[in-house]
Amino acid sequence: MNDKTQKKRWSKKDLDYFRELILKKREETVKEIKRLESVTIKDKTRQNSTNLDSTYAYHMADVGTDSQEREKAFLWLSRENKFLGYLNAALRRIEKGEYGVCIGCQELIPKERLEEVPHTQHCVKCKNKSK
Ligand SMILES: [Zn+2]
Repeated sequence: MNDKTQKKRWSKKDLDYFRELILKKREETVKEIKRLESVTIKDKTRQNSTNLDSTYAYHMADVGTDSQEREKAFLWLSRENKFLGYLNAALRRIEKGEYGVCIGCQELIPKERLEEVPHTQHCVKCKNKSK
């Protein structure tokens, strides 16, 4: 037995719990991405709509806010996509059994923190240190 090479890990039961948590979060994120995508392609669907004239007049008066809305949606979209990537990476770490271990100090990350930020790879102490 060599204690130095033995890494800390969450139990299978805990990993299953975290997997459920992340899958739920991922589902929400995918839904949000779809919603944002529909906002960013709103203009295309408008052009195809049959009552083009009425919506067009409305659109012209409102063009400033509309493009702002779209820009915001694009921004959120890239954020959500990034988040989705983090969640997928976390799922891969669960499969390897490496999930929930701080890459700074190799200690287990407290459950409350993982519930709040399931894709994190740092405990609060190490996160504050790296700031
Ligand atoms: Zn740490």
